[in-house]
Amino acid sequence: MQVLLEGVELRLVRLPLAGAFRTARANRTHRDVLVVQALVADGPSGWAECVAENDPTYWPEYTAGAFRALHYHLVPRVLAGRSMHEVRGHHMAKAALEGAALDAGLRSEGRSLGDFLGVERHQVSTGIALGMAQSVENLVTVATGWVQQGHRALKLKVAPGWDVEPVRAVRAAVGDDVAIVVDANGSYDSDDRAHVNALARLSDETIGVLAIEQPFDPEDLLGHARLARHVDVPVCLDESIGSVRDLETALALGACGAVNLKVGRVGGLVEARRIHDLCLKEGIPVRCGGMLETGLGRAVNLAVAALPACTLPPDLGPSARYYARDITPAFVDRDGTMSVPIGPGLGIEPIKEVLDEVTVNQIILRTPR
Ligand code: MG
Repeated sequence: MQVLLEGVELRLVRLPLAGAFRTARANRTHRDVLVVQALVADGPSGWAECVAENDPTYWPEYTAGAFRALHYHLVPRVLAGRSMHEVRGHHMAKAALEGAALDAGLRSEGRSLGDFLGVERHQVSTGIALGMAQSVENLVTVATGWVQQGHRALKLKVAPGWDVEPVRAVRAAVGDDVAIVVDANGSYDSDDRAHVNALARLSDETIGVLAIEQPFDPEDLLGHARLARHVDVPVCLDESIGSVRDLETALALGACGAVNLKVGRVGGLVEARRIHDLCLKEGIPVRCGGMLETGLGRAVNLAVAALPACTLPPDLGPSARYYARDITPAFVDRDGTMSVPIGPGLGIEPIKEVLDEVTVNQIILRTPR
C-alpha cells in the first residue's frame, strides 16, 4: 500500500484522566497526547496517537521529546521519501507516524485495520488495570466495583511492600472466576532474596494469578530467566521487549513466558505483528497492553487484542475508564466485552470540535516540492 503524503500535522492535546493512576514508578493525573494526522492530497487523512507519556518513567520516550523527534527528524525524512529507520530508537514516535500513514492508506482502500492485521474475532473481553491504592480496603472496593459492572479480568499494579496482601485480598473478594494479572513495572530487584521470595508467594497457586508482568529491570533478562525457572506462572515481559530481536533473545534465555504487546513500544504495527506471529509460533501467550490511550489508540488495541495469540486479558476498558471526555466518540463495553471497529482504517476519527478545544500546540509540515 502506497500513500502519497502531502504533509503531516502534529498536535499536542491535554486531557485530564477520569481518575489518578498510580504505578510503581509514576502517579498520573492527566495526559499530554501527541496526535498525528497524515495529510493525503486526493484521499482521506489518517490518524494516530503517540502513546509516549508526559514523563519517561515507563519507557525512555516522553511526549515533548516525541514531538521534537517527529518534528525535526522523522517527519522531514518521510516527507523527503527517506526511511524513518535512519533514526535509532524513538519507537513510540515512529509507531504514531507509521500508524497515521497506514490509517490513511486503509481508509482509501475501504479496509479495516482488523482486516489488515488478520483478526479472528470481533468481540474482545475487557481487562481493567488498577493502580496502587491508598489502602487494601480501597483497592478491594474499586476491584469489586468493576467486577460488578461485568468485567472479568483485572490487572493489579504491584511493587515491593504492595503485593501478596492486596492481591490475595482482591482474589478473596472477587472469587475464582475473575482473571488476575499482576504488573510490577520493573520495581523488584532480582538480587534481593526478599523480593524474589515475595514474587514466589505472589505466584502461589492459591492466589491464582495468570502471569507476573515485568518484575525486574527491563535490561535484567537473566534475572527474569532465573525467576521463570523458580515459579510456575508465566513471567510476562513488557518493558524488556522493544522489538522482535529482543523477544528472540528473551526466548533463547528462557526469560519470557508471556508477552505484553504494545504497538507504540515496539515501533509500530508492522513490528507488533512480527512479535505476535513469533509468539503464536512458539506458543507464547500475549496480552495487549495499554497506555491510557484516547479512542485513537483504543481502536488500535481492540484490533490487536483480537489477534489469535492474544489469549491473556488485555489492558482494555471503555473510554469512560480513562477520560471524562475523549477526543473520539466513546467506546463502550457490554458485560465486559467490546467490539473491534469494522469501519475503514481505525474505524473512528477525532471529533473536530473537541480536538480543537483541547489542542495546546499544533504544527503542519508540508512535503517539499
Ligand atoms: Mg506493564
